[in-house]
Amino acid sequence: MDFKEHITVVEDYPKPGIRFKDITTLMQEGKVYKQAINEMAEFARKQNADVIVGPEARGFVVGCPIAYELEKGFVPVRKKGKLPRETIDADYGLEYGSDSLSIHKDAIKPGQRVIITDDLLATGGTVKATVKLVEELGGIVAGLAFMIELTYLEGRSGLDQYELFSLVDF
Ligand code: 5GP
Repeated sequence: MDFKEHITVVEDYPKPGIRFKDITTLMQEGKVYKQAINEMAEFARKQNADVIVGPEARGFVVGCPIAYELEKGFVPVRKKGKLPRETIDADYGLEYGSDSLSIHKDAIKPGQRVIITDDLLATGGTVKATVKLVEELGGIVAGLAFMIELTYLEGRSGLDQYELFSLVDF
């Protein structure tokens, strides 16, 4: 299936010069959304995932249906201050300044095989912070799965030791 034709490229969003990849048009097409999730779930299945982890908010949009399909748990990673119980945190760099992501301290059991999912890999900052959280809890990062990879940003570099799957490249 040509997933790319269902992704809308929005010029100058959220700021001038950025070509935003909008996955909501893909999600509006039920069969296309399901097929995209099925292919990502297949990767997670092959990697023997025990649990799926996704950063807010679009990591939930792909991670939850993958977890549901595989009958595995889903663990949310959120911006600092949003999770109700005890967390560990990881800082990551943004274009200007930095931000912090959190995970519940008891969300991953040591030795569990974790697939980290998100809609899009850009610079890799978000996924690297998520990897750090999972590994700090003793999880094994069994794979990274994205709907979209912006190859020109080289987000993959520094992630060579992980199995990385993406459905669509830009
Ligand atoms: P990174 O941390 O790899 O630079 O950026 C990836 C994160 O930013 C993902 O969580 C993703 O949801 C969001 N993101 C950055 N650019 C885009 C884009 O063009 N389209 C979408 N859908 N998400 C983006």
